[in-house]
Amino acid sequence: MTPEERSLLIAKDKQNVWHPYTEMSAYRRGTPLVIERAHGARLVDANGREYIDGNAQWWTSLLGHNHPRLVRALCSQAEKLCHTSLAGITHAPAVELSEALIRTCPDGLKHAFFTDNGSTAVEAAIKMAIQFWTQQSAPRHNKSRFLALEGAFHGETLGATALCDVGAFRSPFSAVTMPVTHLPSPAADLDLAVSALKAELEAHADTICALVIEPLIQGAGGMQMYSPEYLVHARQLTEKYGVLLIVDEVFTGYGRTGTFWACEQARITPDILCSAKGLSGGMLPFAATIASERLFEAFMGDRSRAFLYGHTYCGNPLGAAVACEVLRVYEDEDVLAGAVIRAKLIKQSMARLAELPGVYAARSLGVCGALNLGEGGGYLSDLGWRVYEAALAQGVYLRPLGNVVYLTPALNIPLTDLELLLATVETSVQVVLDELKSVRG
Ligand SMILES: *Cc1c(COP(=O)(O)O)cnc(C)c1O
Repeated sequence: MTPEERSLLIAKDKQNVWHPYTEMSAYRRGTPLVIERAHGARLVDANGREYIDGNAQWWTSLLGHNHPRLVRALCSQAEKLCHTSLAGITHAPAVELSEALIRTCPDGLKHAFFTDNGSTAVEAAIKMAIQFWTQQSAPRHNKSRFLALEGAFHGETLGATALCDVGAFRSPFSAVTMPVTHLPSPAADLDLAVSALKAELEAHADTICALVIEPLIQGAGGMQMYSPEYLVHARQLTEKYGVLLIVDEVFTGYGRTGTFWACEQARITPDILCSAKGLSGGMLPFAATIASERLFEAFMGDRSRAFLYGHTYCGNPLGAAVACEVLRVYEDEDVLAGAVIRAKLIKQSMARLAELPGVYAARSLGVCGALNLGEGGGYLSDLGWRVYEAALAQGVYLRPLGNVVYLTPALNIPLTDLELLLATVETSVQVVLDELKSVRG
């Protein structure tokens, strides 16, 4: 792209494109990155400059960008069949994917329902759970309230928004969201979280439909990490009190936390598991909501009992074919074993960062590291953005969550790129801390 072409592109963008999670007047004053190509853990902009991708593009491209096998799988499926619906008919990629995906799941999860993004994977789970209770032999219409955790993030659609407890994302819509009770998070205090869940279930289980949780890491809420012990309690308690357990592995699945699914670390089987993001290797919008036999059985019988849900692109063959190839690449390239080495380097880097005055709660789990700058802040803080600018100037893309600086690179990021990424995070954080110190005098 010539400099003129690039300028024209940016001018047209500012005129016509409305960007997600982006305040557009500030955006229009700045100069956006124009990404033209990507390969492995690197993005290439319109000037030909390379950036190490520190967040795998919103946590999706876990096998790196444009993995040649995924690109080939996409092209070869496109030549055969680009789309047919899954309503009452079927195609090979969906069948193959459901079998391969269920094989990865905790025992007892048996039936894969496909949608096209993480929010709809959660939305489908919400509706599945509600309809499940209304279709019991003694219908339980009153079991319609959901439990979620403080600091939770589950997506963008209205049902998913209701489950969220990130104030900045939720507050504009609070007048129209369904009732959800947000319980103390184990990321803040494990014992308190367990006792609060127990108390809530003891008192109100007859009106509660399901508990929805992000296992081990609450992602968009600020990369808050917690012990698998909570998941064990959550499973035991929900079972005891007759409440469904929905585990949202949209971010944590596909090896991010060290195991293929985060809930494996607690050896639990939820009633429903939601997956997206890494599922299609950051190539296409694709998602799955995987249910137990007991859930599935409740939808058998006359036509009115069918699960009343289905997006136009549910189970799209292109996405399904790529998702099948993703699973094969995990096996053939032993991606989880490679992730162990990367996890160790991230952990060491976070330990070094923890030493800096001004850095709080430096933490890591699997191929995910995070730290807080300052003690308060939240999503609207600009401290993380100052680190973003400092890192970008050094060729690293590091989108923050307010005052939380984190890295979630591809699980197979080349080790030399990872070392460069970690060194850049460390110097960029230091630069911003020094600026703060000199301002304070
Ligand atoms: C990203 C995310 C979602 C939403 O997925 P989209 O594909 O962005 O709709 C839901 N749950 C969790 C835990 C996520 O991290």
